[in-house]
Amino acid sequence: MREAASPSCLHCGTPLVRLELPEAGFDHPYDLVCFEDACPYYVRGWTWMEERFGVKSSYRYRVDPRSGFASPLAVWSRNALRSSILLEEAPEGAGPKECP
Ligand SMILES: [Zn+2]
Repeated sequence: MREAASPSCLHCGTPLVRLELPEAGFDHPYDLVCFEDACPYYVRGWTWMEERFGVKSSYRYRVDPRSGFASPLAVWSRNALRSSILLEEAPEGAGPKECP
């Protein structure tokens, strides 16, 4: 069974994950983002940004879940913004597991 409400990346087909947004300045709590490191859109972004702007940066495919409008989400490293990913069906009150 597939949920119609979980869209995939237009560029690589990876299911999008929810990314928590800072509270200020946004009218919705999260965006849907492709965090696939092999995504062609993201991979191409590194070259594009360096050639055009001389910066080590890229962007990921991001969709506004309310409007369905897609726009690039700027990232400065492979792990950028990963800590803001909202995990599906996370049990309430359970914090992230960490090894001592
Ligand atoms: Zn993708």
